[in-house]
Amino acid sequence: MIPPVSVRYDADIAIIVINHPPVNALSNTVRAGLLDAVEAADSSAEVTAIVISCAGRTFIAGADVTEFGKPRQPPALADLCNTVEACAKPVVAALHGTALGGGFEIALACHYRVAIDTASMGLPEVKLGLIPGAGGAARLARLAGARPALALTLKGDRLSASAALAQGIVDRVVGEDLLSSAIAFAREIIADGRGPRPTRAIDTHLAGDRSDLAAFDSHAQTLLARYHGQDAPAQCAASVRRALTMDIDSAIAADREAFAALSQGDQSRALRHVFFSERLAGKSDHAAPADLPSRVAILGAGTMGGGIAMAFAAAGYPVNLIDVSAQATEAGMVRIRANYANSVSRGSLREEEAQLRLARISPHGAREAAHDAQLVIEAVFEDMDLKREVFRDLERICAADTILATNTSALDVDQMAGFLQDPSRFVGMHFFSPANVMKLCEIVPNQATSEGTIATAMAMARAIGKVPVIAGNCDGFIGNRMVAKRSAQAERLLQEGALPGDVDAAIRDFGFPMGPLQTNDMSGLDVGYAIRKRRGTHFPIADRVAESGRLGQKTGAGYYRYANGSRQPVDDPVVAEIIEDVSSQLGIARRQIDRAEMIERMIFPLINEGARILEEGLARRPSDIDVVWIYGYGFPRWRGGPLFHADLMGLPYIVERLEAFAWQTGDASLEPAQLLTHLAATGSTFAQWQEARILSGHAI
Ligand code: NAD
Repeated sequence: MIPPVSVRYDADIAIIVINHPPVNALSNTVRAGLLDAVEAADSSAEVTAIVISCAGRTFIAGADVTEFGKPRQPPALADLCNTVEACAKPVVAALHGTALGGGFEIALACHYRVAIDTASMGLPEVKLGLIPGAGGAARLARLAGARPALALTLKGDRLSASAALAQGIVDRVVGEDLLSSAIAFAREIIADGRGPRPTRAIDTHLAGDRSDLAAFDSHAQTLLARYHGQDAPAQCAASVRRALTMDIDSAIAADREAFAALSQGDQSRALRHVFFSERLAGKSDHAAPADLPSRVAILGAGTMGGGIAMAFAAAGYPVNLIDVSAQATEAGMVRIRANYANSVSRGSLREEEAQLRLARISPHGAREAAHDAQLVIEAVFEDMDLKREVFRDLERICAADTILATNTSALDVDQMAGFLQDPSRFVGMHFFSPANVMKLCEIVPNQATSEGTIATAMAMARAIGKVPVIAGNCDGFIGNRMVAKRSAQAERLLQEGALPGDVDAAIRDFGFPMGPLQTNDMSGLDVGYAIRKRRGTHFPIADRVAESGRLGQKTGAGYYRYANGSRQPVDDPVVAEIIEDVSSQLGIARRQIDRAEMIERMIFPLINEGARILEEGLARRPSDIDVVWIYGYGFPRWRGGPLFHADLMGLPYIVERLEAFAWQTGDASLEPAQLLTHLAATGSTFAQWQEARILSGHAI
C-alpha cells in the first residue's frame, strides 16, 4: 500500500507528498503522517526548506467526511497547523485543485503559498454549520485583513488563485510545473535570506480594524443580517473578531471550543444530514449506461423549456429547442437572450461564456429536429391531449432507444406512458421554475419505466448540476403535493385573521427566503386558480384576488401591490378589504394569530403529507423528501428539511398539534397520518425508520 504521506528530496529541499485518493482528505492517517514528516524534515540537518504538495487531482480538499460527528484521533488539526507554522525552515505549500477547509488551513499555516493558476481555495466550513477550527480565520485575517477573512468564512465561497494572489493570500501563481516552481520559490527564499515567515507574526493588515472595533462590528452585523437564526455565520464573525482582539493562541483555543460546540449542535447535524441525503437521493439502484446521451432536444420553448435548455447549455450540451413554429421558438430565444444579458449585466456571467452557451441552443420550428436526439424532454402546455399527440409523434421521429421525458407538473405519468408503444423508455423529469437556477429534478418513473431509463435520467440530471430525487406518480409528485397543504393553511390563516404580510413574515422568520403568498405572486395567481378549478376546489380569498384581475407581479398586483414593475411587494388595503369581507361572509370572527402558531399551521401539515407519501411508497426514504424541500422550495438548509425538522421537534408534539388543528378548524385532512402516529407512539423517528428499512434490505 502507498503510504498516505511520503517524503523525497530535491537536494536540500524536503518535498512532502500527500497521496490519499480520491481528494487527499484529512483523515487521521494523513494528519499523523504529515506531522511526522514535517517534524522529521524540520529536525534534519540536511534540509533547508520544506515543500508540502499533493499527488492526484487536488491539494487537500478538506476533512474526511466519514469522520464527521465522530471523536477525532490525535493529532488535532490545530496542533498540526501550529507545528507547520513553527518550523525553523521555510515551508512552502504547493496548491493545485481545490484547497478547502482543513486543507486550506494547513496551507495558511505554511510560510508561503505557490498556486497553479487553475487552483481554488476556501473555507467552506460554514456550509456544514461549522467554523474553521484550526486557526483558519485568524491566519487569513493576518494575511488578507479581517474583512476579507470575514467575507470568505461567512460565505464559504471559493477563491481563484489569481484572486488569492491579489489579496496577498498566495505569494505566486504559476501556469505550469507547480512542484518545480514551488521548489524554485523555496530556493529563492533561502537565497534572498527571507527565511521562515510564520503567518501569526504578520499583523500589518489588522491595525485598521483593531483601532476601530465598532466599525468592524457594524460591518459584521450588516453582513450577518442575511443569516438570521443561523449559528455558524455568527460564530464565523466572532472568530474573525477574536483575530483582532486576542493573541493568536487564545483565539485558536476559542475557535476549537466553538467548533466543538457547533459540531454537536442541531444546525450542523442538519447540514450534514442534507449533505449525505443529497448523495443518497442521487444514487440509482442500477448503474447508468457508460455512454450517456450527448444530444438533447427540448420540446416547448416556453418558461420551462427555455430554462431547461439553458441548464443543458450551461453544462456544455448542444440542445435543439423546438416549439410549434420558427416564430414561436424565436419568442423563446428572445427570453433566453434577455436572461443571459441580465446575468451579464449583473456580473454573474461573463459575456464570452453567455455567448458560448447561447450558441449551444439551436432553435427549430419543427419536431423533426428531435430526430437524432438521445434524450427528448417535453415541456409543452399542460394538456393531456396535446401530450398524447406529441409523444406519439416523437416515437415516430426518434430512434428506438431515445429516452423520452415529460416535464409535466400534475398530469398522470402512467396515463401518458399508455400512449407509447414502448413505455420503458419514458420517464418524468420534473424541473422547477426557474429551471436554469433551481436544482431539484423529480424523476418520476411510470409502471413500465426500465431501470436503465431511470438511471440515465438521474445521471443526466446530475450531469447538468441538478439534484435528482425519485418520486412516485401521484398528483403533485412529492413536492407540489406537500406544498398544497401549506397553501391551504395560508388561505385559512388569512380567513381567520392574518394578512398576507403576516403569513409571509412567519415563513421567512422560519428561514425560507420567501413566503408562500409572495411566491404565488411571483409565479402568477392564474396558475393556482386554474389548478383549483380543474380539481373543483375553492379557496375563497385566493379566488377573489385572482378573479379581480390581480394575477401577481406580472399585473402589478396580487396579494401585494408592485409599483412600476418593481418586484418589491407592498401591502395593499384593497386585499385587506377582500380578506376581511371573505371572513365576515364565512362568519369567522377574525383573531390575532401569533407567529409561532402560523409557522406550525403551515409546516406541520406538510410534514404530515410527507408521512403519507412515505406510507404510500411514493418516496424512497424520508431524507429524499428533505432533499426535495431544500432544493425545490427553499426550505432552510440549516433546519435539515421538513422530516429532519420533525424529528428534532419531537413527533409526539407534532401529532398532538395536528390533532388540535384538525379539531380547531374542522379540517379532517389535518388529522395525523398513520405513519406519523405510529412513529410517535413507539418513540421512533423518521431517521430511525429510514435506518431500519436500510438495514432490512429495502431499496435505498
Ligand atoms: P409555457 O406556456 O410557458 O410554455 C409552453 C410552450 O410549449 C409554449 O411556448 C408553446 O408554444 C409550446 N408548445 C405548445 N404546443 C407545442 C407543441 N405541440 N410542440 C412544441 N411546443 C409546443 O408553459 P411552461 O410553464 O413552460 O410549462 C410547460 C410544462 O412544464 C407544463 O407541462 C407544465 O406543467 C410544466 N411545468 C411548469 C412549471 C412552471 O412553474 N411553469 C414547473 C414545472 C413544470
